[in-house]
Amino acid sequence: MAEFLGGRTPPDADEDRLRLVIDLARESARRGGGPFGAAVFERDSGRLVAPGVNQVLALRTSLAHAEIVAIVTAQRVRGSHDLGVETVPACELVTSTEPCVQCYGALIWSGVRRVVIGARREDAEAIGFDEGPRPDDWVGELTRRGIAVVRDLLRDEARAVLDAYARGGGLLYGPGPRPRD
Ligand SMILES: [Zn+2]
Repeated sequence: MAEFLGGRTPPDADEDRLRLVIDLARESARRGGGPFGAAVFERDSGRLVAPGVNQVLALRTSLAHAEIVAIVTAQRVRGSHDLGVETVPACELVTSTEPCVQCYGALIWSGVRRVVIGARREDAEAIGFDEGPRPDDWVGELTRRGIAVVRDLLRDEARAVLDAYARGGGLLYGPGPRPRD
């Protein structure tokens, strides 16, 4: 993705940041990956800390969702397992689709202070992905833990990437039950 991101200036508003992440999702799908993108930004400066795309298939691991890839990379770049410490500028996660249950948990542990979201879980589930058993009040839970939540930004643009992936016959993957169970 380095050449894809090359030459861009750091986006400075939510929509700009999300649009970059939706572009990442679209580019990931075009290259045969999952149709999901995410990135960690410095919340106040808008500086891009780490991009991530879904690499479940490429890395052969169920863990490599876009949000996880972005968080892991950001923590390595910042040299801290906790992006919420005072020595690290406040970070936010921007993601093309609502976090699944795995990414929801990772988000809580990551130390990010804000999350900005495009498509809803219903949009991912409408094409066959499974978001898992997140708590009903997941937004309230994040808010109580000091993570601000912005949802439904550019939802139509984000959903269009998912719909295009489905129309193109993109592979679906996720949790069980499996046919053999
Ligand atoms: Zn996920």
